[in-house]
Amino acid sequence: MAEKMMKPQEMAEVNHTPPLLSLSGWMHRPAEIKQGIYCYAGKPANLQYVGLPNPREWSPTDEDWKLPPNWKEIILEGLRERLERFRSLKIFMDICVRCGACADKCHFFVGGGDPKNMPVLRAELLRSVYRKEFTTAGKIMGEIAGARELTLDVLKEWWYYFFQCTECRRCSLFCPYGIDTAEITIIGRELLNLIGLNTDWISAPVANCYRTGNHLGIQPHAYKDMIDFFLDDIEEITGVRMEPTFNRKGAEILFITPSGDVFADPGTYTCMGYLILFHYLQNLGLDLTWSTFASEGGNFGYFTSHEMAKRLNAKMYAEAKRLGVKWILGGECGHMWRVINQYMDTFNGPADFLEEPVSPITGTKFENARATKMVHITEFTADLIKHNKLKLDPSRNDNLKVTFHDSCNPARGMGLLEEPRYVIKNTCNYFYEMPDNTIREQTFCCGSGAGLNAGENMELRMRGGLPRANAVKHVHEKHGANMLACVCAIDRAVLPPLMDYWVPGVGVTGVHELVGNALILEGEKERETNLRGEPLPGMEEEEQDV
Ligand code: SF4
Ligand code: SF4
Repeated sequence: MAEKMMKPQEMAEVNHTPPLLSLSGWMHRPAEIKQGIYCYAGKPANLQYVGLPNPREWSPTDEDWKLPPNWKEIILEGLRERLERFRSLKIFMDICVRCGACADKCHFFVGGGDPKNMPVLRAELLRSVYRKEFTTAGKIMGEIAGARELTLDVLKEWWYYFFQCTECRRCSLFCPYGIDTAEITIIGRELLNLIGLNTDWISAPVANCYRTGNHLGIQPHAYKDMIDFFLDDIEEITGVRMEPTFNRKGAEILFITPSGDVFADPGTYTCMGYLILFHYLQNLGLDLTWSTFASEGGNFGYFTSHEMAKRLNAKMYAEAKRLGVKWILGGECGHMWRVINQYMDTFNGPADFLEEPVSPITGTKFENARATKMVHITEFTADLIKHNKLKLDPSRNDNLKVTFHDSCNPARGMGLLEEPRYVIKNTCNYFYEMPDNTIREQTFCCGSGAGLNAGENMELRMRGGLPRANAVKHVHEKHGANMLACVCAIDRAVLPPLMDYWVPGVGVTGVHELVGNALILEGEKERETNLRGEPLPGMEEEEQDV
C-alpha cells in the first residue's frame, strides 16, 4: 500500500456536494490527473506483443501523450463504426433523460465524491462528443444541446475516468431505461486503445496470457510445480496424497481456473480446495484433467476491447478441442464468467464440438450451460451437496463467522446468487448476510475490478471499496463476522488490503477453501489444522502443547 496513504478516518470524510457549475460547466473543467487514482501507462513491449496500436513510452502526467497526428479521426471513425455495430451503444447514447437515478449508485462516487464518477456524468463524457458529431441538434446547437468537441483535454478526461470504472453494472440496475454504463466504459476503453491509450496493469496481463496462457506469464512447468507444492501441503494436513493429471487427452472434463488461484494467497487455499474435492470425487467417477496451457480463466482482454477478449477466450476452447474433453468446469472467477455467459456464443461459439455438461456423479444436466459447455464450480458442488454426495464436517470451519461478497460479474453477469450461499451454508455453521441493498444483484464492487487492481492507484481502490467494506463492517460489528467469502480471483487478491484498511480483523476466502476444510476424505488422518495451517477449532491447545 502507498506510503502516503491517508488514514481511513480522513478518507471516509467524503464531500458529495456538487461543485457550483452551470449545467454544462463540467465540460470545461479538464481532468486533474491525480496520483493514487490513475494507473501507469501500458508499456510498449506489451502492446507490441499483441499488435496493439501506437506502442511507445509515455506517462499520463506528461503534457505530450505521443499520439498519432490523426488521433481525432481514428477515434471518431472508431465511434462511428461502433455505433453501427452495437445497437445498444446507439440507444444508450440517445435515451438517457439525465434523471440522476444512477448518480449515487457508483461505489467510486460514493467513496470519492468526484462528480465525474457519477455514472450519468461518466457516460456524458462520451455522449457529449457523440452529440456533437452524430446528431443534428448537437451540430447546430452545440453546448445548449449538451454537445462538445473532441479535444485533447476531453481525450485525457476519457482516459482518466474510463479507467475509474470497474464495469460492474451496478448503476444499470437502477436506471429506468436499463442504460448500462459499463458497456459505455467498455466502448470508451476500446476507442482509447485504437490510439495506444491503455494501462500497464491491463496490457501486461493481456500480453502474458497471449504468450503463456495466463496473466502472470507462468510457464507450464512452473504451473505444475505450484500444484505439486499444494499437494505436499495437503498431504501434510490430511495424510492423503493426491495425483491430479495435466494435459490428459481423452479426459471427460477440462478444469480451468484463474491463475491467481495457483499463485497468490489466499486464492491458493481455494486451489487446494479444488484439488481435495476432485480427489474425493475420483472414486465416484470424476474423470478430470487440468491444463498447463489453458492456465487462466480470467480475461483481461475484456478490459481492452471485444476483439482482444475474443482472442483470449478462444484459448480455453482450443485446449478443450485439443484434449478431446466433453465439457469444461470453471473455477471461482469473476469476469471469466461474464465473458462466457454474455459473449462466448458470438465470440468463439457455439462450441458444438463439446457436449452439454452432465455431472458424472449425479447425472444432473446443466442446461444453463447448453451453449457455452462450461459449468461454474459452485453450481457443480452445490449439485453434489444437494444429492448428498459429499461427506462434510462444517464444524472444522467453526472458527469462522462467514459473510459472502457477491462478485459483480457472477452475480449481475450470470445470476449466480444461490449456489455459493448453499455451499457455504453446508460447509460452515456460522453465516451472516450483509444488508440487502449491498448483496445479490445490488452487490457493491470490490473497487478494483476491470484491471484496476494495480498498486499505484491504491487511493482509488480504497475509496471505491468503501461501500463494500462498510457493509462488511456492519456484520463484523453486529455478528463478529471475521471471514469474507467470494467466488472471484480478483476479489481474493484485492479484498485483503481493503479489509486491512477499513475493517481489520476480517480475512478473505474462496468458497472451495471452505469445502476443502470440511470435506472428509477416505483414509485421512485426524486433521489438526485447516488448509492455512491454522489449528482447527478444539486443536488450539494441542498445538500450544506441541
Ligand atoms: S459500471 Fe460500476 S463502476 Fe462503472 S459507472 Fe456503473 S457503478 Fe460505477
Ligand atoms: S438512471 Fe439512466 S436515464 Fe437516469 S441519468 Fe442514469 S443513465 Fe440516464
